[in-house]
Amino acid sequence: MYNLKELALMDENGKRSDGRGIDELRSIKITVGVVKNADGSAYIEFGKNKIIVAVYGPREVHPKHMALPDRCVLRCRYHMSPFSTDTRKNPAPSRREVEISKVMRESLEPSLILSDYPRAVIDVFVEVLQADGGSRCAGINAASVALADAGINMRDLVSACAAGRLSDNIVLDINDLEDKEGDADMPVAYLPNLEQVTLLQLDGKLTTTQFSECLEKAISGCKSVYEIQKEALMKKYFGNEMELKEEA
Ligand code: ADP
Repeated sequence: MYNLKELALMDENGKRSDGRGIDELRSIKITVGVVKNADGSAYIEFGKNKIIVAVYGPREVHPKHMALPDRCVLRCRYHMSPFSTDTRKNPAPSRREVEISKVMRESLEPSLILSDYPRAVIDVFVEVLQADGGSRCAGINAASVALADAGINMRDLVSACAAGRLSDNIVLDINDLEDKEGDADMPVAYLPNLEQVTLLQLDGKLTTTQFSECLEKAISGCKSVYEIQKEALMKKYFGNEMELKEEA
């Protein structure tokens, strides 16, 4: 007997519902410096996810009592536009958005040298224009690039990617259908140079062996994303020089 769920998520040749192989990322494009009024910004297309991030700061904290004497406060707001999902999303912040804002802040914080800006605040606004599974990872990737664009002192970039399980297969970069119909989803954020994990969530069940494989796969995805983040920053800041070198 056929298992219709498995047939839809992966065919007998190991091809997934969107034609990708087990270890294949969706296509990723990052553009740096897209919001004129922000101190730093980035736009990311991660498969069908489309997300814009604007960074403001370091600047004075309002309300003032939130200021910390020894370091900068990092605030993060993840928001989905009403037209970003298949059914209209209520524009008011949902529990899910509050949670994602928190985990995004926690995954970005270790990359920043916040003690360099005491009594100040950095605001990170993440606007999801189109969501297709993995929007928190895509948002973290764009946010880290936008923070670099804003010139915030940092130890490393943060690169994020999910891996998950479809039946017995551990696959890289879960899309919306795989998120909803698959068996496990593990978003991971990683500092590629410091080799530290700053976010690890798991929705679903994995054996110990599957857990290790999934984490390893997600980290390899983060490393691929890191190269694209670096390229996007290089393009903005050394764009002409790079073109001249290519011409020479
Ligand atoms: P992530 O986008 O980080 O994978 P979730 O696993 O919570 O976060 O959500 C998976 C996907 O479910 C989202 O990317 C989006 O496509 C869809 N989704 C989330 N919230 C809603 C909503 N309120 N209405 C419709 N679809 C939603």
